[in-house]
Amino acid sequence: MAVARTIPIEPAENAIRTLPVPQTGDVTREGGFWRDRLGRPLHDLRISVTDHCNFRCRYCMPKEVFTSRHRFLAMTELLTFEEIERLAAIAVRNGVVKLRLTGGEPLLRRGIETLVERLAALRTPSGEPIDIAMTTNGSILAKKARALAEAGLKRVTVSLDAIDEDIFQGFNDVGFPAAKVLAGIDTALAEGFQVKVNTVVKRGVNEAETVRIAEHFRGTGVIPRFIEYMDVGTSNGWRMTEVVPSRETLDRIAERWAVDPIDPNYPGETASRWRYRDGAGEFGLISSVTQAFCRDCSRARLSMDGRLYLCLFATQGYDLRTMLRGGATDEEIETALGRIWSAREDRYSELRSLGLAPDRPKIEMSYIGG
Ligand code: SF4
Repeated sequence: MAVARTIPIEPAENAIRTLPVPQTGDVTREGGFWRDRLGRPLHDLRISVTDHCNFRCRYCMPKEVFTSRHRFLAMTELLTFEEIERLAAIAVRNGVVKLRLTGGEPLLRRGIETLVERLAALRTPSGEPIDIAMTTNGSILAKKARALAEAGLKRVTVSLDAIDEDIFQGFNDVGFPAAKVLAGIDTALAEGFQVKVNTVVKRGVNEAETVRIAEHFRGTGVIPRFIEYMDVGTSNGWRMTEVVPSRETLDRIAERWAVDPIDPNYPGETASRWRYRDGAGEFGLISSVTQAFCRDCSRARLSMDGRLYLCLFATQGYDLRTMLRGGATDEEIETALGRIWSAREDRYSELRSLGLAPDRPKIEMSYIGG
């Protein structure tokens, strides 16, 4: 099976892998959405707001690659909140109904509550509020939860790969305690957030933690989601042998509690949902490697410096920042976005499962979010 190259490249190189926005091309629309070449609508925009993170997780920002010599982006290179809001507003006018703030670690972007407040004020063409969520490592969630709730954020997804302190601190590689992340989750719950927990399951590292995490969150309203370890980026040295198939995680949980599958919340939901028969809540399985879900993928990713990526495994992003700063009108940006999405045919995970994944370096997850 062909897998993507795992040569370590300095992630800063990724920042210059840009494509100019297309000057020509058709815009395909149907049912209020732009449609790509496979008929998929764009309704989920993930917005990365910083390339900084205070963790050095092995699968995302490994220490050997993100060294003290790593050049993070300067503030002037980041999109401003006004620029992010402008792009988000154009996307929302054209069908996007979900916005997710990511990083790096989004809570490290100063004044992030202000951005949340601006985005929370957006409305769909029919006047509906937008679904806004944030993915965070939870390290400063306890401190920020109140301000985020007041700004209008309702959902957070916390990355938590283990509860066992040795394993968790080994994962984040900076000795940050799991107990503090759990305290952040408790604070978020107290502030009324809907909380999900994302756990990347890696063979030989944290398989046993899946049951422990499931147990910890049973009956709390928190929904854990167990994710197959993916070959995102080029710096984590991914190997297929390190992937724990979702089926195996399910068997491990089902050995302990009786579970039943439940319907997806909406077509194209990335997680398959399962509930405990005793009523203690639900959990999800994201089979990103063993059961590709590209067919329904309706997500685009905006990097902190204004590149639009059409796939988590993309190599190049479209340079929207130059357009924004070059005096383009909203109409011109809208047309450019429509053309970019209409020409999209990305389906990396499907191709990987067919052994046809292109052999090329990929953008780092810390650059466009997970
Ligand atoms: S591989 Fe790319 S196209 Fe497929 S589900 Fe993931 S992000 Fe979407």
